Amino acid sequence: MYIENIEHFFLETPLYQKFDIDPDDGELLFDLIYFNDKIDCYCPFCDKDSTFIGTNKVPSFGGFKNDSFADMTRHSGYGIDYFLNKIHAIDLYCSRVEEHKMQIIVYITNSHIFKIGQFPSIAEISQPQLKKYRPVLTNEKYTELNRGVGLITHGVGIGAFVYLRRIFEDLIEEAHQILNKMDGWDEEVYTKARMNDKIEILKSELPEFLVDNKELYGILSKGIHELSEDECKEYFPTVKLGVELILDEKLEAKKKQDKIALAKKSIASIRRDIKDK
Ligand SMILES: [Zn+2]
Repeated sequence: MYIENIEHFFLETPLYQKFDIDPDDGELLFDLIYFNDKIDCYCPFCDKDSTFIGTNKVPSFGGFKNDSFADMTRHSGYGIDYFLNKIHAIDLYCSRVEEHKMQIIVYITNSHIFKIGQFPSIAEISQPQLKKYRPVLTNEKYTELNRGVGLITHGVGIGAFVYLRRIFEDLIEEAHQILNKMDGWDEEVYTKARMNDKIEILKSELPEFLVDNKELYGILSKGIHELSEDECKEYFPTVKLGVELILDEKLEAKKKQDKIALAKKSIASIRRDIKDK
């Protein structure tokens, strides 16, 4: 597995995940270690969304300005070896308040790169974004969602998958509890059905994204039984995105229901007022 996106590597990649490095990855390592671009993310110190800016400076080899790996190689004679078998710290600061720092620590060997440290933690950056799901999750499931994201931050892949799967199963059970009270419900057929068929049976009460992406459950289950820690860590961001999309849809539906309830109440109250006159 290779690093495809530096921003994703900084903000989403769990610690200790192993990425391959090729001899021609000098440019990538240069851009990573001397990161001077901007990334948008939540700042836990501002308690607001912000933009972080990279501050690492390229050494001025022989007094030259080096804007690229090619410049560096030309002026210093160093190649990719210059970055290998070392620990590097990448510094960024919050554009809202300069004292708000972010640091990513990477260890680069001859053939691999690992993120071995990060401050603030991924959990601190991403957990505030989970707060919005509070209205559509029980206390227990909200805690578990946070725990899943917290675990992945500390490099625990399979455990994090378990928590996401529990949330998925809870959504299914919620729909089941609504529909099993309806006329013509066949509990025996439902109990014996496989998860894919259960989702199909419950489809009228489930978010569309979940129904259209039933295989998400398959991935979550596979994660727990067959995938390695590294595979779970690699797939976690995608699976989390899927769960978030399902929760987004529930959140939208809840907002609409709340609005309808409010409108009904107001209309009833107006009707009473008119009658009284
Ligand atoms: Zn800040």
